[in-house]
Amino acid sequence: MAAPSTGSVLSFEEARAVVEKHASHIVATDHESCSLLSAAGRILAEPILADRDLPPFPRATRDGYAVRAADLKSLPSKLRVIGEIKAGPVGPIPPLNSGETISIMTGAPAPPGADAVVMIEYTSRHNDSVEISKGVSSGENIVPRGAEAKLGSVLVDRGTRLNETAIALAASVGKAKVEVFARPRVAVLSTGDEVVDIDSRPGPTQIRNSNSYSLAVQIERAGGIPELLPIAPDEPKRLHGLVEQGLKSDLLIMTGGVSMGRYDLVEQVLSEMHAEFFFTGAKIQPGRPVVFGRIPHHERSRAGVPAPHRHQYFFGLPGNPISTVVTFELFAKPMVESLSGSSPQPLVFLHAKLKSDIRVKSGLKRFLPAILSGEHETSQVELVPWQGSGDLAAQARANCYVVVPPDREHIPAGEWVAVMPR
Ligand code: AMP
Ligand code: MG
Repeated sequence: MAAPSTGSVLSFEEARAVVEKHASHIVATDHESCSLLSAAGRILAEPILADRDLPPFPRATRDGYAVRAADLKSLPSKLRVIGEIKAGPVGPIPPLNSGETISIMTGAPAPPGADAVVMIEYTSRHNDSVEISKGVSSGENIVPRGAEAKLGSVLVDRGTRLNETAIALAASVGKAKVEVFARPRVAVLSTGDEVVDIDSRPGPTQIRNSNSYSLAVQIERAGGIPELLPIAPDEPKRLHGLVEQGLKSDLLIMTGGVSMGRYDLVEQVLSEMHAEFFFTGAKIQPGRPVVFGRIPHHERSRAGVPAPHRHQYFFGLPGNPISTVVTFELFAKPMVESLSGSSPQPLVFLHAKLKSDIRVKSGLKRFLPAILSGEHETSQVELVPWQGSGDLAAQARANCYVVVPPDREHIPAGEWVAVMPR
């Protein structure tokens, strides 16, 4: 059996840094036009610019009376009401002189001469005059023209994942369509003689392919288009053929066949294809045998790879279903994000108080399925009892992972621990 050309077992942090380094060199290029309502989750390929000053006029932020703050030096103060301005008025807005006020609504333009708005709660109206019981400082309850953004300034950067706020900003400058990066195609190749399609009836010792389906969800969430390949048997020739096929996509993710077993052929087949291995394991659980590398490339991929060194990146994720999910999240996701045109997103960790003791062997950083409950300072977390990294049913009950550092063998109940949400 051919040994991998290079590669090694790295700590979690080292392995993550290797992936992030490679991901950060990817330059996505292909883009397409997308209607704003379908753009949620897509990555902007153009900056969204302010098409005018925002706000375009000095905007009242309260219902009340537009005033000159200096008129309210002594209180209560009586001002003459010369009119009313509602949001979206047409025609010229009358200027405000000393001793005068104008009734104004939220979202309406403040009249020239006014420098503040007194909230209606502090006023009482008597026909053409209003008595004001509370002073204001200059600028209060008015957002000056251009204070949020100047004409031509960047509202949302290229490379931003479009969320509801970014989409609202695009809408506010009239972008019915936005340029977004093309989604990368991510090939998914499950391997294993025992693994069968979900629409076939498994024999007594066969199992249905679930990994391709969890990966498809994770790939879509990370911005990619999953392309499920046929299941590869533990047979080098057929595996080779399917790997070749997978390398036509922008990224290849394999599951299974990366452990130390006699029929774990993924590394062997990749070595024969002159793969370069960046790591062949990470000191984590679940997911220790995770593999990351690249292969000299034949054909340019759609999402773009850095010239002049063209190569295809691949991951070999362990076949145990939870290992597959966890290693995608920790290592493959940044690659999909970069190919999608975004920068790799940092992992997010919360903190919670452990409900019951954890005892493990030291040496591996562990991401153990757990249930997080409570909020803020009452956050509590408890491991889900599981039968190991094949126990999808346990994982389904969990809503997070407790992160156990590699140097800890015992974490007592009551200690604050790092939690990675899922
Ligand atoms: P392997 O990484 O090939 O040694 O597989 C580890 C475990 O994961 C074995 O119990 C496999 O049967 C299981 N497994 C491998 N591939 C899949 C898959 N696509 N779906 C569900 N389970 C799998
Ligand atoms: Mg296998």
